[in-house]
Amino acid sequence: MVTLRSLCTQLYGGGGPRSMATGGGGAGGSSPLCMIVLGMAGSGKTTFVQRLASHLHGKNCPPYVINLDPAVHEIPFPANIDIRDTVKYKEVMKQYGLGPNGGIVTSLNLFATRFDQVVNFIEKRQKNCRYVLIDTPGQIEVFTWSASGSIITEALASSFPSVVVYVMDTSRSTNPVTFMSNMLYACSIMYKTKLPFIVVMNKTDIIDHSFAVEWMQDFETFQDALNQETSYISNLTRSMSLVLDEFYNALRVVGVSAVTGAGIDDFFVKVAEAAEEYEREYRPEYERLRKAAEEGKQKEQQEQLDRLHRDMGSVALDPGHSAGLDEAVVGPSDLILTRGNMEDDDEAEDSDTDDIDHSVAESRLEEPAFQNFLQQAQSQYREKVNK
Ligand code: GDP
Ligand code: MG
Repeated sequence: MVTLRSLCTQLYGGGGPRSMATGGGGAGGSSPLCMIVLGMAGSGKTTFVQRLASHLHGKNCPPYVINLDPAVHEIPFPANIDIRDTVKYKEVMKQYGLGPNGGIVTSLNLFATRFDQVVNFIEKRQKNCRYVLIDTPGQIEVFTWSASGSIITEALASSFPSVVVYVMDTSRSTNPVTFMSNMLYACSIMYKTKLPFIVVMNKTDIIDHSFAVEWMQDFETFQDALNQETSYISNLTRSMSLVLDEFYNALRVVGVSAVTGAGIDDFFVKVAEAAEEYEREYRPEYERLRKAAEEGKQKEQQEQLDRLHRDMGSVALDPGHSAGLDEAVVGPSDLILTRGNMEDDDEAEDSDTDDIDHSVAESRLEEPAFQNFLQQAQSQYREKVNK
């Protein structure tokens, strides 16, 4: 029987999830746990990351926070690494003549080419941080179905214990068809990311999530709810719901309110379970992947990189466009990515990011053309995977 006190020690102190997460193995038993926060636009990812960050600060266990949403205006938490410091999303849109989604995809692609640096930064901080929180772009498909999303997820998961946190807007899932669509989406992401998975039913301050749990546990109840639906899609949903049964069994679900903080302790219990699952079932696979890469079987990674470059289109590599791109994408520099100041633990003072952004952006105009950077990044990556 686990007491609340021993659980708290496990979760936040005294070698807690770190040792659970790594099972004493991994990088000297001191790897932080990465939580990749995914979910539909408006589901509450950013608010949830803010809640987690403030909760962890309150437990004297400050997390390392990464913002991967290039289009967000303001983030309500101090980020150690912020994609917006590296990629100017609006300029990317302008220079490439892209719409909002294209701009986000391209920005994320550009950032992914440098993600090995981010992994290095996390490694440097791993002694001080138990948790790494990763907020992702509003539009979930940008991350989950792009080459950069896979590169980032794999880079994290092969270096640190990692879990996917799928945030759902419970108040918008009260219709059984919508609920099913959301669960199908979650299911596809779970199989795509190949990582332990936690479904966070958010906004329980608006509506309790018990109806959803009942739907998942009791097939009849869901069918009853569905019977009140007359849309053609309800037939499809009925058939699909049979298939989802197995998925539900493997699922960890927790109801929270990112706004009030309700359910956050329960969430961390699920996180500890997911971390254990990573050690038990996923680590061997990621270690096998790493070994395969080291042995030169890097074809898949190479394909991914090629796909990423294809996604970015000829423009990104076309010398004719590189001049304009300098304004869109500030050049590669450790300085930019170290905005959270790796040596300094005082993250709270980082929340005012504006001055840093502009001064860095200006000095970056003297950096080599982005085209060079891309080529460099590509050849470095090839060198690395060829080793
Ligand atoms: P994201 O696009 O997934 O990052 O979503 P945001 O975190 O930006 O939140 C979208 C909207 O949902 C905002 O207006 C939030 O205030 C609201 N929101 C987020 N979490 C909760 C919650 O737990 N309860 C309520 N009532 N609103 C929430
Ligand atoms: Mg957001």
